[in-house]
Amino acid sequence: MLDLVVIGGGAAGFYGAIHTGRQNPGSSILILEQNKEVLSKVRISGGGRCNVTHRPLEARELASHYPRGGRELLGPFHTHASLETMAFFESLGVALKTEADGRVFPVSDSSESVIGALRGEARRLGIGIQTGSRVTEIAGAPEPENSWIIHTADHTYRARCLLVCPGSSSHIWRILRNLGHRIVPPVPSLFTFRTDDPRLSDLQGISAEARLEVLAPGPGEELVAGVSFRKAQRSGQLLTEGPVLITHWGLSGPAVLRLSAWGARYFAACGYRFKVRVNWMPEYHQGALRPFLASVRESDPKKTVWRSRATTLPARLWTRLAEGAGIGPEARWAEISSAGLERFSEQLSGSVFQVNGKSTFKEEFVTAGGVSLKDIHFKTFESKKCPGLFLAGEVLDIDAVTGGFNFQNAWTGAFLAAGAIASRLRAQESAR
Ligand SMILES: Cc1cc2nc3c(=O)[nH]c(=O)nc-3n(C[C@H](O)[C@H](O)[C@H](O)COP(=O)(O)OP(=O)(O)OC[C@H]3O[C@@H](n4cnc5c(N)ncnc54)[C@H](O)[C@@H]3O)c2cc1C
Repeated sequence: MLDLVVIGGGAAGFYGAIHTGRQNPGSSILILEQNKEVLSKVRISGGGRCNVTHRPLEARELASHYPRGGRELLGPFHTHASLETMAFFESLGVALKTEADGRVFPVSDSSESVIGALRGEARRLGIGIQTGSRVTEIAGAPEPENSWIIHTADHTYRARCLLVCPGSSSHIWRILRNLGHRIVPPVPSLFTFRTDDPRLSDLQGISAEARLEVLAPGPGEELVAGVSFRKAQRSGQLLTEGPVLITHWGLSGPAVLRLSAWGARYFAACGYRFKVRVNWMPEYHQGALRPFLASVRESDPKKTVWRSRATTLPARLWTRLAEGAGIGPEARWAEISSAGLERFSEQLSGSVFQVNGKSTFKEEFVTAGGVSLKDIHFKTFESKKCPGLFLAGEVLDIDAVTGGFNFQNAWTGAFLAAGAIASRLRAQESAR
């Protein structure tokens, strides 16, 4: 009988196994990984650089980056958050650096440093790793044994405790549902918006600060696939502000990714077809832009609108929006009618784009959905349905915006689970 079987050799699985091993030296721990390689998502994470976590933040602020799970992670973050994670990796010799936007990376700019550290520490602690071992079934052995039976294609393992960290796995979710857990249907999060609007063609690479707001669907469409637009809107999920990057397929950048995460359920429900209004000059509150343009008309009447960009907006975007308002390359400010100013003001502060689908953001993408948070004790990450079964990482209905927060969820959950598993094992040991 093993002390602990960990399902999944990913971020959460390794962190949980290592911290259990550290707190309970000598315990027999085995990681089962279905692939030939462990830690494959860590390897490709952050474009191969691995954005390990985010700069230390106060727990409430850290939790505010999680569209799902923020409330539940608040307590756990008081025990183990970015600071502790950074100390852990640095103690293993992984020098870290914090970039201006708060993302933390290895100084080496290579995820291999993180992988090497996790593998090396697991080896030092004598943790077994079985690759090519896909878990096909889990069952609880009845009392007095109170253990877990774990099946792979060619082996059956028994363990006192079970840590389930398979990431987003429909197969494991099915098993967990059969064991009594509620599963929130998975939908993608962290994606970019596809639009073939001619105003954006050939502008790829341009970025600007903007405010984005998803518009209400047509009358009678307020409820899409059971998800209410108004409810999503009221809870602030469909509005954001920040850098927007124009790509050859549409809109990307931190603000778009944040919106895709907060509105993930709504966007899935409407089939990724919706209208988004972009204010390219969010520094002007509503109504202030038109008087500003009128003042430019006053001061520069002879200059052409295209060539006399009156803002810090990238020049090519400025001219494209002017064109969208019907203002041609030769039109001078003095020739712009009030209606023309109104149209230009609308383009600058509220261009509406029809989004027709999503694209994957290659640096990072995650799944929203998974084991319902109602079924988890957040002091220990133990299942309320199956005592002795612990869950951490993306298998839970927790996800975050980009910036190292998704890994932090895996590290924090696995650390708390490891603490509970280690004390459970010690208690069982002394009872024997
Ligand atoms: C391209 C990309 C880049 C990313 N970059 C970042 C980043 O820079 N920063 C950040 O914070 N987040 C990033 N993320 C998100 C982050 O990778 C995940 O949140 C994190 O890996 C979740 O950890 P996990 O341990 O829960 O799951 P995973 O890392 O997915 O690990 C789960 C493991 O379980 C295994 N498994 C599944 N089913 C079974 C089974 N039945 N039997 C045995 N093994 C099984 C899988 O093969 C896998 O190895 C990125 C994601 C992607 C896709």
